[in-house]
Amino acid sequence: MKKLLFFLVAVTCIISTSNSQEKKEKIMIKKIDKTEEQWKQELTPEQYYILRQKGTDRPSEGGFTSHFEKGTYHCAACNLQLFESNSKFESHCGWPSFDDAIKGTVNYVKDNSLGMIRTEIICAACDGHLGHIFDDGPRETTGKRYCVNTTSIKFVKAKK
Ligand SMILES: [Zn+2]
Repeated sequence: MKKLLFFLVAVTCIISTSNSQEKKEKIMIKKIDKTEEQWKQELTPEQYYILRQKGTDRPSEGGFTSHFEKGTYHCAACNLQLFESNSKFESHCGWPSFDDAIKGTVNYVKDNSLGMIRTEIICAACDGHLGHIFDDGPRETTGKRYCVNTTSIKFVKAKK
């Protein structure tokens, strides 16, 4: 009898933890599922090329590369908050660079294109292409460099 009771308690525990984990993920990021036709209509041709066809902005100091105002960077396609301005740093690589993303908002995909092994970063809600992540970020924080296309993000200024 004791054994049976223990078994039941153990099973209940397993069921309840797996349920709560599932719920947490679902609450955090709501998946956005649109057809390529819909995206084509909603995005500018440039945004469509970068976000949906995994294009890359030309490196420049323009756009958000040298932009250091206080606020939040959102996905240009679905408006999900991705990066806080306090994660942004000057990398001199020609693209906006962050040492961290807002938890759970970015997914990581292995990318073997162009003869390189890289990790692509995509928006967790709409799967839009953001850029790549590298291990040459600031050592005093995360050591990561989220190298993001200006076209993939938009900036929302912090309210004072
Ligand atoms: Zn998105």
